[in-house]
Amino acid sequence: MIPFNKPYVSGQELAYIRQAVEHGRLAGNGRFAKKCERFIEQRYGVVRAMLTHSATAALEMMAILLELRPGDEVIVPSFTFITTANAFALHGAEIVFADSLPGHPNMDAEKVEELITPRTRAVVAMHYGGDICDMPALERLCRERGVVLLEDAAMAIESSLDGRKAGTFGEMAVFSFHETKNIISGEGGALLINGGHWIERAEIIREKGSNRAAFFRGECDKYTWVDKGSSFLPSELQAAYLFAQLEALGEIQAMRKAIWIRYHEGFSKLEKKGHVQRPAGLPGRERNYHSYYLICRSLQERSRLIRFLHDKGIQAVFHYQSLDQSPYAAKFRDGKRKPLPHAAHYSDRLLRLPFFNELGRDEQDHVIASVHAFYAK
Ligand SMILES: *Cc1c(COP(=O)(O)O)cnc(C)c1O
Repeated sequence: MIPFNKPYVSGQELAYIRQAVEHGRLAGNGRFAKKCERFIEQRYGVVRAMLTHSATAALEMMAILLELRPGDEVIVPSFTFITTANAFALHGAEIVFADSLPGHPNMDAEKVEELITPRTRAVVAMHYGGDICDMPALERLCRERGVVLLEDAAMAIESSLDGRKAGTFGEMAVFSFHETKNIISGEGGALLINGGHWIERAEIIREKGSNRAAFFRGECDKYTWVDKGSSFLPSELQAAYLFAQLEALGEIQAMRKAIWIRYHEGFSKLEKKGHVQRPAGLPGRERNYHSYYLICRSLQERSRLIRFLHDKGIQAVFHYQSLDQSPYAAKFRDGKRKPLPHAAHYSDRLLRLPFFNELGRDEQDHVIASVHAFYAK
């Protein structure tokens, strides 16, 4: 079976984990964690990067930082991972769902504008497949309306728009290092902070509501409970694995680019014949080659294609189910409306193909040939 994903080992991961073990400190905020944070800050030009045990944890930190009051609204895309919404719901937000663009799974900035009310506190942009949202439009809108712009860049490390990298548009952003992402540590994430005023409380929130970070810097003489918080740090074992991956970033991205381009060329004829749509490009974007997907003509056709590929030894998977139609969304005012059409379109039709750094050429050719065989029937 050609799996959908296979976690990658670039070379130094086990050596770095051994070093961490031999150094004798395995909790969070250790030497490898700091190396990873400095790497991210320097490479992406963010004011502060803070490792977390997941992107979900970093989203929850954002939600706590917002100090939401009852009735405060947070706008999220409907076509996204559950935690983009759940992190804010957990901390009391009224969730409002924005539709996708007609031609791309990303959230439609014009739709966001219609959804802003005096109760809107934040807009969370998610960059699907690593294609950056219309951030210039969202930045303008959020500035005008006094709303905090946040980025769920969980799958968008290394993507850029007109030369600006994902994670640098929002006041805060998150990356994920879950094993299905480009750069991994099994589970893992980071909170990226561009607005410096968020940093002090973010440190406290990540350290269980204590001023431990300031204490260790010698800025106060005891460490105690000063605010709300939780346990959001990854262990040094995860950070050691992650640092090896970050050092191999260039090599990893080159492998992914070759795979992406081979798929894209491999499906150009099928698109011309109108059988499938390939990922649409958006102007000014540099892709990060996170995933490769096809848009099928219907839900039924997609289900048949998944079964057909499975029988050929290929694991292909669908993706998000629109959150505006999810059972839990009914709890929110906004979850009782009719389906958002474009989000529903991608929920029903988007199919992801096996995509991992070590996908072999023969394996990839088998995937491409099998999709062709399905449409030749
Ligand atoms: C993967 C992903 C997440 C969750 O990341 P974790 O690190 O597993 O918490 C959130 N949002 C998006 C858009 C993702 O792709």
